[in-house]
Amino acid sequence: MTPQPSPQAGAAVKAADRAHVFHSWSAQELIDPLAVAGAEGSYFWDYEGRRYLDFSSGLVYTNIGYQHPKVVAAIQEQAARLTTFAPAFAVEARSEAARLIAERTPGDLDKIFFTNGGADAVEHALRVARLHTGRPKVLAAYRSYHGGTQQAVNVTGDPRRWASDSGTAGVVHFWAPFLYRSRFYAETEEQECARALEHLETTIAFEGPGTIAAIILETVPGTAGIMMPPAGYLAGVREICDKYGIVFVLDEVMAGFGRTGTWFAADLYGVVPDLMTFAKGVNSGYVPLGGVAISAAIAATFAERPYPGGLTYSGHPLACAAAVATINVMAEEGVVEHAARLGGEVLEPALRELAERHRSVGEVRGTGMFWALELVRNRETREPLVPYNATGQAAAPMSAFAASAKAHGLWPFVNMNRTHVVPPCNVSEAELKEGLAALDTALSVADEYTE
Ligand code: PLP
Repeated sequence: MTPQPSPQAGAAVKAADRAHVFHSWSAQELIDPLAVAGAEGSYFWDYEGRRYLDFSSGLVYTNIGYQHPKVVAAIQEQAARLTTFAPAFAVEARSEAARLIAERTPGDLDKIFFTNGGADAVEHALRVARLHTGRPKVLAAYRSYHGGTQQAVNVTGDPRRWASDSGTAGVVHFWAPFLYRSRFYAETEEQECARALEHLETTIAFEGPGTIAAIILETVPGTAGIMMPPAGYLAGVREICDKYGIVFVLDEVMAGFGRTGTWFAADLYGVVPDLMTFAKGVNSGYVPLGGVAISAAIAATFAERPYPGGLTYSGHPLACAAAVATINVMAEEGVVEHAARLGGEVLEPALRELAERHRSVGEVRGTGMFWALELVRNRETREPLVPYNATGQAAAPMSAFAASAKAHGLWPFVNMNRTHVVPPCNVSEAELKEGLAALDTALSVADEYTE
């Protein structure tokens, strides 16, 4: 039964949480999680009756917002018909989800291995690449996030790896393009692209091309700062992979399923990887689901040789029914086109205008419903508003910024010295403008910490 949204009910939820829930990425006694009573569309609310416009889409996954009635109904129908069935069987929801996903993935990425989320998709993509090539190493980018499980966190290029890294052999990091913080080496996107490709190829030469199974990249690095790769970079990586027989893995867990105003971010660049990981937006996160889309050539490796890996809940019918309904909603309601149009016509100009008025904004970057504002103490030196530190915890300027946003009914995504503007892909224009007004006020608070 849905709990009554009263402060007393909220206090009971909170007390049980504090007593028994061990939270991700947190010092357990230093956190104060909000008790959420409900959510719908682009909003959620607490037990005190406060509503928040969710500019974080949960963890950048509610691409069609909360509680879409068609997806909720599809989950209910599937639950009534066949709640679960083991992965070795052909089940309608599973095969239909795989068909709809394969129809949209680029090139011949037509075989879908289902997982429970993004990190295990990365685990399996890297295992597939190592088995396909018979090579041990994986190259991954600094300033990236690929998940919290063993292999995924070891390829991750953000401070969370430092604490949980077991020093897995065979993972080598490199510097992907990021002009804003690469200015001592490059002044233009073209130069930064050339620098990054040359650096990657040199890294490969020094590691030994015959030892490298895969290069894994987020098509557009998300958690680490929404850095749009310069034109030609991903095509250049594709060429390098072809030259050395390296498997090219694009991680689209965050960037996929409409976030960038295309079905996949790879579509923006016309690049086809050999393996593509997805999760989050595939079913707006209503039931845990992720997966790896596999090219025909790599799938052929396992035509007569078993793939040594699997999960009890791989392609869970409830999750797959949610994916089928979500993809159909996105297609019927033109969500991808909406994200592209609203992103280009409303969000981008508004964010650029905010950047002109607020001296705390060092850079605006992104596309579709996938934007980051890099907040700085000083625009000239580009010193981050919060110095990069080992924990990634928001220090005073960013927490003051976030508190102001929340006080004005906006739930922001804050990571280090950045706020990401990542509302649901079907957010309305009016909602977007409401959130931008609160963001404007919160940026005035951030401005107070600049010099
Ligand atoms: N890959 C990318 C690009 C992500 O953004 C994330 C999560 O944010 C993951 C992998 C891990 O996904 P999950 O948290 O579902 O394991």
